[in-house]
Amino acid sequence: MTDTKYIFVTGGVTSSLGKGIISASLAKLLQARGFSVTIQKLDPYINIDPGTLNPYEHGECFVTDDGAETDLDLGHYERFSNVPTSQANNVTTGRIYQSVIDKERRGDYLGSTVQVIPHITDEIKHRIMLLSKKGNYDFVITEIGGTVGDIESLPYIETVRQIRWELGNRCAVIHLTLVPFLSAAGELKTKPTQHSVKLLQEQGVQPDIIVCRTEHHLTESLKNKIALFCNVSPTAVIESIDAPSIYDVPILMKEEGLDLEVMKRLQVTSSQEPDLARWKEFLHKLKNPRQEVNIGLVGKYVELKDSYKSIIESFVHAGTENYCKVNLRMVHSEYLSDSNCAEKLEGLSGILVAPGFGSRGIEGKISAIRYARENRIPFLGICLGMQCAVIEFARNVIGFTDAHSTEFDKRTSHPVIDIMEQQKKIAGLGGTMRLGAYPCRIAKDSIAHDVYNTELILERHRHRYEFNNKYIPDFENAGMKLTGINPKENLVEIVELEGHPWFVGVQFHPEYRSTVAEPHPLFIHFVKAALQIGGKG
Ligand code: GLN
Repeated sequence: MTDTKYIFVTGGVTSSLGKGIISASLAKLLQARGFSVTIQKLDPYINIDPGTLNPYEHGECFVTDDGAETDLDLGHYERFSNVPTSQANNVTTGRIYQSVIDKERRGDYLGSTVQVIPHITDEIKHRIMLLSKKGNYDFVITEIGGTVGDIESLPYIETVRQIRWELGNRCAVIHLTLVPFLSAAGELKTKPTQHSVKLLQEQGVQPDIIVCRTEHHLTESLKNKIALFCNVSPTAVIESIDAPSIYDVPILMKEEGLDLEVMKRLQVTSSQEPDLARWKEFLHKLKNPRQEVNIGLVGKYVELKDSYKSIIESFVHAGTENYCKVNLRMVHSEYLSDSNCAEKLEGLSGILVAPGFGSRGIEGKISAIRYARENRIPFLGICLGMQCAVIEFARNVIGFTDAHSTEFDKRTSHPVIDIMEQQKKIAGLGGTMRLGAYPCRIAKDSIAHDVYNTELILERHRHRYEFNNKYIPDFENAGMKLTGINPKENLVEIVELEGHPWFVGVQFHPEYRSTVAEPHPLFIHFVKAALQIGGKG
């Protein structure tokens, strides 16, 4: 295909309707027809990126290979499409304004009054077009964050209006709405959809396709009604019924003909039906597990599953690969201690200690690790989880009783985890950590080598603190093996325990690289190890 086509996905009525999943599902369907596709998220908030946002408010921060701290929807895009994203795939209002203001200060607009239209909208347009130039894609799907009618979304919707006018049939707009079921009336209601489409029309944008989130099937007459009131053809009203798993959505969208509708609007033909054989095989395995295993996720944000989105999804992929259902038990680290671990972690065949920042729940994480180490339960520590494993080992095995990370105790006499040299001079908090993909060399005769089956790996990072190399001899002599090292800076990236069936701590984040097509080997092997001690058929 020569000219890139642009698909915009907007949302109406309420937030959390799943624009990210719809966008990722459409990308999957187009990709399965042989097209190259990328997905971009435009976020209307003023932060430069979500890196500084509280996980309670915004869920997990997803990190790309090039070190961008991005919205968690990019995780869905990668998990569905198996194509890495980058900074260009996530743009916020803060970033847009920052570059416009920088240009203004440089004198690039000398003489003109800098305004939302055209300067801000041109900058948004530039970011959308930049992405298509980067990868020469057949399709760029751009998801507009927020809900139509939000004040902060206005410049984005205006940009969609302009691009549409400029590109004509190289551009399609999908609007995702809610069709609620009123139990008192016993009916699905279309009025919120009508209103939200009207709002979009008032802003100059006529959607081509309306995707309706619903708990009950839409009848033909309901679809006709929405079509009539919203100026679209009845075939362009697509039902998106609640699905048992997000991974069902591409199949449901295929059955509803979403990809065909999009192609019709964009005048694209494809002789090939989407090849979803591997996806269906994954779904079949997901739905027909042969056994189950209980794994605990110890963290401090356990009430909100979005905070650990990529880890949770990695277990779905790895469980499926092992023909097994992983029952993930969320364990709050704040309420764990040496005295109650036996009770709170009872029945778990694997323990994962999560990444994190700040001292809340640290001692509970350390207790959970002690429990896993002493009871020979398979353990995976990610980033802060690995750092806590190092602290636990220093305190309880080596005998450095006050060992700590200087993140939590600046005056400890054994700073086994310390701030990285390059981090010491950094003052600002946004985008200043060690971020993105770095190489790691793996020692032979290690679990890591079994897992990766290679000597050099690339994994994504997001941290400021690091194993303190001054203590390498103490750890090695006491039985903690340092089996992964960054070759350039000599940073410890993987730790393992001698004599334990499966105990691995990683300074990086394997969860950012697990996809449906390529479940992450660390999670696969961790689940396998857990199955060995406690799988239930
Ligand atoms: N707080 C730790 C650090 O900055 C760990 C970060 C993480 O778990 N992502 O090094």
